[in-house]
Amino acid sequence: KHNFIPGRTAGSERAFQDAKEVIPGGVTANIKYFSPYPLVMEKGKGSRLLDVDGNEYIDYLLCYGALILGHGHSRVAEAVISQMNSSGTFIFGSPHQLEVEMARKLITLFPGIEMVRYTNSGLEATLLSIRLAEAYTGKRKVAKFEGHYHGGYDQMLVSVNPDAGKAGQASNPNPVPDSKGISDYHLEHTIVLPFNDLEATEKILRKHKDELSSVILEPIQGGFIPAEEKFMKGLRKITEELGILLIFDEVKTGFRLTVGGAQTIYNIKPDITALGKVLGGGFPIGAVGGKKEIMAIMSPDRGKDILTAGAKNDVKDDVMFHSGTYNGHPIVLAAGMATIEVLEEPGTMEELLRKSNNLRKELEKLYNKYNLSMKTIGMGSIFNLVFTDGPVKNYRDMAKADLELRKKIDYELLHRGIYTKPMNRYSMSVVHSRGDLQFTIDAHEKAIKKVIQK
Ligand code: PMP
Repeated sequence: KHNFIPGRTAGSERAFQDAKEVIPGGVTANIKYFSPYPLVMEKGKGSRLLDVDGNEYIDYLLCYGALILGHGHSRVAEAVISQMNSSGTFIFGSPHQLEVEMARKLITLFPGIEMVRYTNSGLEATLLSIRLAEAYTGKRKVAKFEGHYHGGYDQMLVSVNPDAGKAGQASNPNPVPDSKGISDYHLEHTIVLPFNDLEATEKILRKHKDELSSVILEPIQGGFIPAEEKFMKGLRKITEELGILLIFDEVKTGFRLTVGGAQTIYNIKPDITALGKVLGGGFPIGAVGGKKEIMAIMSPDRGKDILTAGAKNDVKDDVMFHSGTYNGHPIVLAAGMATIEVLEEPGTMEELLRKSNNLRKELEKLYNKYNLSMKTIGMGSIFNLVFTDGPVKNYRDMAKADLELRKKIDYELLHRGIYTKPMNRYSMSVVHSRGDLQFTIDAHEKAIKKVIQK
């Protein structure tokens, strides 16, 4: 049993019991639950969160990476208020200029983006990306990598977190449903690939090339396990050769390595890119960007003149439907634009990366001092702590790490004012201070001592 903040979180426990009566499991997303009860928050400010009992935490969850400027950043707040005041409304329900302004921004920043459509979440963005690929190629299956998360819908709730007993061979993984209620249709139409294994991936792609519309991947799995460069280059080459579209899910990685996402770092142009999280500056958003000839399939006024050589006959004359009442929400776009502007200020991203790297280095040193084989894995401003001696290249390597030790440390850290959901990755914000980082390192040392003692 974990030593769960004894005596200090009675308010969270009460609030959770109360919530459970009207909200299944007391949480509005299954991932927000942890045992024995999730902490219930009341306030956020900069790098800090305050729970209902008044406990303060340095926040490394940052709403699953979305809050790259921390909580309540003044520039974002001002942009939101100014947008409401100047337009006099919350949303137009019609085209408006900010949609175009943001689209131009994304086109400048992301090499693979030539046109943009907005959604309200990362989930919708990957869903739309896959439909786009199916509409464009006329093929009906999609390939994804084991352990990669693209949002919680049927087609992608396959082998995100499969049990070892069901997952099959590493080089040819089985499709395993991640939820009750996933129909066999999706298990048959979603092909599962092994991440960072180019040879095995190529073999599977060749076998299914005539049915596969696209391969979707997180260029950096979970935001912290990077695709090897050779793997990424190879994947781009094979997909091009086989007429399979390559979809980068940059919901997490967009704006977190460089403002232009993993595709800028890898120097690879995906056919379609899905964005979210940071793009909304803390408000709900998603976006899909891609090559003009692919994106044009959604254009309601498309005529024979914009038909492309790549489009298959059966979809040629059709427009691909995409809609959403709140798409391109002006307040969200204003918040996102302000966020990007702050990130683009000289030195901001560099400092963010420097801070992340420093914290990683100091933590590794610390664990080393206590003879614990812990390494930090990541790229950019997201990383994770993994207790293992071996390499960490994919989902199966992660599963081999000492998860029990990690869990114990995480609960001790919660007790000492470091907030991330147990077992979750760390995200850094531009407002985390040197003092925060030192506090974090000291808290880790206390946590280690406590755990080793037991
Ligand atoms: N793709 C990736 C890589 C993600 O990390 C997430 C969210 N964790 C999603 C898609 C889904 O985004 P959302 O939660 O906004 O629907």
